[in-house]
Amino acid sequence: MPLDLSTPPDIPQDVLVKLTKLLAGGRLHRYGEAASVGEEVCALEEEFSKLLGRKYAVAMNSCGSTLFISLKAAGVKAGDKVLMNAFTLAPVPGSIVHAGAEPVLVETTKDLTLDLDDLATKAKETGAKFLLLSHMRGHIANMEAIVAICKEASITLIEDCAHSLGGSWAGQPTGTFGATGCFSLQSYKHINSGEGGILVTDDDDIAAKAILYSGSYMMFHQHRARPPLEVFEKHKYHTPNFSLRLSNVAALLARSQIHLLKERCDNWNKSYQTISQGLSHLKKLYLPHRPQAEGYVQSSYQFLAPHLTKGQIAKFMTHCAEKGVFLKWFGADEPVGFTAQSSSWHYLANPHTPPKTKEILDCLFDFRLPLTLTQEDCAYIIDTINEAVKITS
Ligand SMILES: *Cc1c(COP(=O)(O)O)cnc(C)c1O
Repeated sequence: MPLDLSTPPDIPQDVLVKLTKLLAGGRLHRYGEAASVGEEVCALEEEFSKLLGRKYAVAMNSCGSTLFISLKAAGVKAGDKVLMNAFTLAPVPGSIVHAGAEPVLVETTKDLTLDLDDLATKAKETGAKFLLLSHMRGHIANMEAIVAICKEASITLIEDCAHSLGGSWAGQPTGTFGATGCFSLQSYKHINSGEGGILVTDDDDIAAKAILYSGSYMMFHQHRARPPLEVFEKHKYHTPNFSLRLSNVAALLARSQIHLLKERCDNWNKSYQTISQGLSHLKKLYLPHRPQAEGYVQSSYQFLAPHLTKGQIAKFMTHCAEKGVFLKWFGADEPVGFTAQSSSWHYLANPHTPPKTKEILDCLFDFRLPLTLTQEDCAYIIDTINEAVKITS
């Protein structure tokens, strides 16, 4: 069988009976006059808040929605500046612009984490009071340092954990450092319900506002992973309904996979470590350094090829593609598929890729590590990349 690196995590068979029953009953919306109708979404929120060890969880229709709502609920106003990684996915600047705010791009290091010096500099220069931090592709920055910089400059931290469910820094899960942590249930992330997102927080006001913004009508009391009802009294007349709810179908699919998370993370890391070992001797490639404190979960693979010219990169990629190993490259002039440089976000006030990040992205490659990948597949990928390095140099 040819390698298909874009195979998403599968849906456990045992959920199909429950799903059929749910569909037959037609109660797919999370709210209704009878409080029991939102069972799947409410239970998912409870399970998620327990998993992360945070007080509250609010399910929405995408991680992008949870980012947008986090910014709104944390107090971002039109025209505010929001710091963000220059190397991230389009929903991140999208959520900031959606909130009427202005993204401020912060450089990325060659280890693919936020550049802390540049963060401190840009925070000072712009006076921004919010940081939307992506643990991009599962690479986790030094969280003690980030939290310290944010504290020093009175910056509210929002964590984009779309690719870091299961990851941690110094034993503390990602999504528990910031005012909120935002997770994705989209097919290519660690739990696959097609589309979906979950916001977790310990803050009463943020949780109540997030529930109201997400579109709870006046049925917020039906939530279970929520703050006390008096908190909603403060906000219910002032918080617009943005209709970003999750359906019971997506919640049921997500719930069926929570118990598989540990096994999945071990599986992804096994492939990641095998491939890292197989590429480690190649002097022409740079493999991002993983600090001791970083509890990574790597469901995709990244490497830099700093010595290849544009011509050599084309040859390198063609060789891999001919062998069925389709690499994504972040250096293309035009955005392709899911990959883009910040210079292609022309809706920004000053669209550009900051210089250090540009140097990195121009030689950055990426591919997914599907759960179906065997050790033989890993060996095949290693051989293919080894050959490609050989023939291009
Ligand atoms: C996937 C992803 C998102 C957005 O998640 P959706 O659920 O697709 O909205 C945000 N940030 C990063 C880094 C992602 O990889």
